[in-house]
Amino acid sequence: MRILLAGFQHETNTFAPSKAHYDNFVRGEGFPAMVRGVDVLALREVNIPAGGFLRAIGELMRNEAELLPVIWAGASPSAHVATDAFERIAGEIVDAARAHRPDAIYLDLHGAMVTDEHDDGEGELLARLRAAAGAGVPIVASLDLHANVTQRMLESADALVAYRTYPHVDMADTGARAARLLQRLLMDRNGGNGRPLHRAARRLPFLIPINGQCTFLEPARGIYALLDELERELDGVVSLSFTPGFPAADFAECGGVVWGYGDDAARIEQAVAALTEAVVAREADWAVPFLTPGEAVQEAMRLSQQASRPVVIADTQDNPGAGGDSNTTGMLRALVRAGATEAAMGLIVDPEAVRAAHAAGVGRDITIALGGQSGVPGDAPFEATFRVAQLSDGRCRFDGPMMNGMDVDVGPAARLTIGGVQVVVSTGKAQMLDRNLYRMAGVEPERMKILVNKSSVHFRADFQPIAEAVLVAKAPGPLLADPADLPWKKLPAGLRLRPLGPAFEGPVTQR
Ligand SMILES: [Zn+2]
Repeated sequence: MRILLAGFQHETNTFAPSKAHYDNFVRGEGFPAMVRGVDVLALREVNIPAGGFLRAIGELMRNEAELLPVIWAGASPSAHVATDAFERIAGEIVDAARAHRPDAIYLDLHGAMVTDEHDDGEGELLARLRAAAGAGVPIVASLDLHANVTQRMLESADALVAYRTYPHVDMADTGARAARLLQRLLMDRNGGNGRPLHRAARRLPFLIPINGQCTFLEPARGIYALLDELERELDGVVSLSFTPGFPAADFAECGGVVWGYGDDAARIEQAVAALTEAVVAREADWAVPFLTPGEAVQEAMRLSQQASRPVVIADTQDNPGAGGDSNTTGMLRALVRAGATEAAMGLIVDPEAVRAAHAAGVGRDITIALGGQSGVPGDAPFEATFRVAQLSDGRCRFDGPMMNGMDVDVGPAARLTIGGVQVVVSTGKAQMLDRNLYRMAGVEPERMKILVNKSSVHFRADFQPIAEAVLVAKAPGPLLADPADLPWKKLPAGLRLRPLGPAFEGPVTQR
């Protein structure tokens, strides 16, 4: 069995400030850097879906499987994927399918890619692959929990399966689930038990804010427990998935979807309906309490007085993991204004500030205008004198639960201090989802009273175990955390813009 394997991951925030170009995929930016051919096989040790797939397919099929690795490419979330980047990477995958005529195809995808030309990037890729590979070749893809799953994706693939955790600690497990589905489809095709898989899918009637999707918290925790139970207990159900969606991609199929596959059409319909009804029944519980920067700092200072562990504040509206440029200063301003001490914040991306720090050297003072280039009303560079406390090459290896084992390089970095506040400033972007991003610049996160992380939810995997409390702040930034605040144009009429929120009136027609 010759199995073609490729990865192409991008989460597109169509409201974000910068696009993803080919070079962004070459660097990886928080994902592994772009690799081709046999080098893709080295990803088997990394906690990403392709890694889990590689390990599982080796165990499931032993010598029966010959892998045809093509490419693995991912870039930090941002605005649209540029046409050149999409055509080069998608083109390579489709050309390989045409040239090698594989028996099956596995793709490691995100599911919320929007390109300059295609609202549904993965749907376009899967449809091209289907055309190249032919109807009889099983195509299975793993998806992020933030996928905006479309009808075209569902129709072009034989099976799609999504993460069940946010923070995404089950990326490799999801790749393994995809491997089992692929093996099953190959067996069916070769006369195995001869029962084709039926598909069922339902869309949610409201958008869910990212911060409300965390699976450490209700209602997501209970919903995914129910998903596991339905999948395990109901005969005829082979695979169930629920993606609450990425509510910052302006196109007609943005939002949550429940879907699944089973060898009994009625049972899979029943399971998908039951899970959808459970999600909708808890609509009010998916809403999120947001704080202003000042409120969040005051609350953190109050809580940390008696605490031996840090209070962690999510600076969610500039999360580079969702398309932010990681340079807004609202939270830094609030920390300094409140006189917070033993506080640390990261990462603020500002290559010029890093250059100034490296030019001055450790122990010297620099007067700079830090960050604040978002152009968002209420955000501005933070002009002040900082002490250069430490210089760093910006390299570390993640050892938290997410992306465990991955080598990260954010370029030259520095730790700057102002009063009792320490700021980790970097040249490149990475979401603060691993404590080693602080340690690389000399901050021991466990010893801080307050940590401000440019992240929405992923940081919880590594920081919740050391946190006294976690707060969510809405500092001025490009990523409006409440989807009802966004200037939507293309959503379908009637979709509620937040849990129990106002309904969208219908697509805004172009003039
Ligand atoms: Zn995600």
